[in-house]
Order: sequence, then structure tokens, then C-alpha cells
Amino acid sequence: MSSDHDHHHDHGHEHGQDVPSPTALRVKALESLLIEKGLIDAAALDAIVDAYETKIGPRNGARVVARAWTDAAYKARLLTDATAAIEEIGFVGSDRPHMIVVENTPTTHNLVVCTLCSCYPWLVLGLPPVWYKSSAYRSRAVIDPRGVLNDFGLTLDEGVAVQVWDSTAELRYLVLPERPAGTEGWGEEALADLVSRDSMVGVAKVAAPAGAAP
Ligand code: FE
Repeated sequence: MSSDHDHHHDHGHEHGQDVPSPTALRVKALESLLIEKGLIDAAALDAIVDAYETKIGPRNGARVVARAWTDAAYKARLLTDATAAIEEIGFVGSDRPHMIVVENTPTTHNLVVCTLCSCYPWLVLGLPPVWYKSSAYRSRAVIDPRGVLNDFGLTLDEGVAVQVWDSTAELRYLVLPERPAGTEGWGEEALADLVSRDSMVGVAKVAAPAGAAP
């Protein structure tokens, strides 16, 4: 069982402070007890956590991105006041950390990191992946963003500028990836299905749908 999901982000925490919150400790205690009593197994729990990391959590962000791709007025609102525009779709956090959406273009690629700990836009992306919290990613994203992107299999043209955004407890970033070719006329739902978690952190592009011309 991975034990690193206890870094809480539900409220402003001191950067660099790695003491688990009371809630995290209670969750951990409950989890241990349930496993000990044989009521759940660690693998099943990992599967649930994985779903929140890769499927359920990022689904909110994918809907925001798909809306921006299909509605120019919404996109304008999203880029000027992301917190309100995300709330508009119905995603409301209890403490509302301020959100900023940064747009990828053919000449600018955005990458999100939290260099000091692991602040993450959980409202739109769910739980952060393990690599996002690793010290390797946190330190290298700033020093060598292109190297990090290469490791993720994304090689950018020399002419593309890379912008790195350092998150804090009060300020979270979401990348608005480029809409892939071959999706002209697609509806919001179909588009949202294409949008990956990684593309909204900025370590990937949204892949064109199968059969689309590159
Ligand atoms: Fe952080």
C-alpha cells in the first residue's frame, strides 16, 4: 500500500512541513484496521486510489478543458478567472484555493510543479500521482523542464518556449492543452474522453484520436 496519499491539500499548509494532518492519520488508522480485520485488502484499496488519481479525479479537469475547446466565451472566462469558471461547471471546493489556467499554444508549452511539496489542483485533477510528489520531478521540472518532458516521452521543437508554474497551497495551476487535430465537430463529452491527466499537468499533449491525420 502506498503510504504517500496522506499529504493533505484540503487547506493551506506550511510549505516544507511533512507532518501528516489529523485527518490523514485517522484515515491511515482506519485503513490499517480494515486490512487487519480482513475487511478490505490493500490491492483493492490501491485500485480505488488509482481510480481517483487517473480516472475519476481528472474527469473534472477534462470537462473544463472540453468546455473551453468548444465554447470560446467560456475559454475567455477560464483564462481570466479560472476559479469562477471552474465553479461555473459545478466544481466547488470547500476552501477554494485560487486557480489559474495556463494555455498551451503552438509556441508555448506549460508545465506545472510544486517545488516545495506537492500542491496540486485536486478539485479538477483528483489525487496527485506519486511522480508529482517525488523530489526528482520537483527539482528537475524547474532546472531541466525539457529533460523532464523527454522522460515523459514528449519532445518539443526548439522553437517552443517552456513555461514552468510553481504551485503553492493558495495557488494551483491547470494546463489547458491544445485541442488535437481530427476532432473538428466533436462534442464536449467525446472531447473530454480524450483529455488525460498528464496533459493537464503539462507532461503530455492530448493525443489525436485513432485514425486522425497527424
Ligand atoms: Fe505543495
